[in-house]
Amino acid sequence: MARIVALLQSDYPSVDAIVALGGGKCLDAGKCVAYRLGLPMVSCPSIASSDAPCSALSVMYQPDGAFSGVEFFPHSPALVVVDTQLVANAPVRYLVAGMGDAMATWYEARTCYQNPVALSTLGARPTLAAKALGECCAKTLFADGLAAVQAVHDNSVTDALERVVEANTLLSGIGFESGGLAVAHAIAQGLTVIPAIHQQYLHGEMVAMGLLTQLVLEQQLAEAQQVAEFFAHLGLPIHLGQLSLLKQDINARQAIVDSAMSLAFIHNEPFSVTSALLLIALEQASDLGLAVAAQLGDAAYRRLQDL
Ligand SMILES: [Zn+2]
Repeated sequence: MARIVALLQSDYPSVDAIVALGGGKCLDAGKCVAYRLGLPMVSCPSIASSDAPCSALSVMYQPDGAFSGVEFFPHSPALVVVDTQLVANAPVRYLVAGMGDAMATWYEARTCYQNPVALSTLGARPTLAAKALGECCAKTLFADGLAAVQAVHDNSVTDALERVVEANTLLSGIGFESGGLAVAHAIAQGLTVIPAIHQQYLHGEMVAMGLLTQLVLEQQLAEAQQVAEFFAHLGLPIHLGQLSLLKQDINARQAIVDSAMSLAFIHNEPFSVTSALLLIALEQASDLGLAVAAQLGDAAYRRLQDL
């Protein structure tokens, strides 16, 4: 980002907007560059894999890939343009990861809405509108998710794919920002401290494991089961083995939990979250996912990971 800012300032002083075309890290970098130059930013996601296109923040990572923080901006991108044929031509794993990220939006917004002291990432109380966006997002994914995956396999733009791209990009992007985050994203960011995880897995794949952990922690076991089964059909990771974590590696699990506990939004849960409770929930969620994978098989997961 510093390199591009310096280049634009010295060689292209009359630039009037920044257009970022690519994945989430590219768009987040584009937002930072635009903000530093005081220019409007046009967001053109080439994949529908994360909440980056619409949000007014950039997630920052250390050079080795571990999460390092978030930079907030006063405005969302001026324009967001998605060519769904590009999304249909991209590897399906990105669309599926985007569904993991988007599915969490509803459950995290609901948690924040129900807890009278929870705050959104902007430091405000979640609104009914944000909760409704999150709920619409989850309903759309359950209804159209598998058909959208098939559309990308066929490289074809269908109504189901259009709806899932809107859910992954607009509903989830605005929904999480105004609805608030909770355990799902805390665990997702915690997972990035393990090199074997952040080197191999996408943000939305980590959020999938985080969402199962949140639902188990909240004792929403029927929903945890429903979400795990849906994720298994999509091919998202639903247990720690599918994130390359060995059962005996207790130190890694503790490191994930310690990192998650350091994030303020983990305390958006309506009860006190402790390191011990979170570790138990992570392990129980992984056991639940393992049982679902044993029952439904892991063919969808392996097909995506082989791409
Ligand atoms: Zn996310």
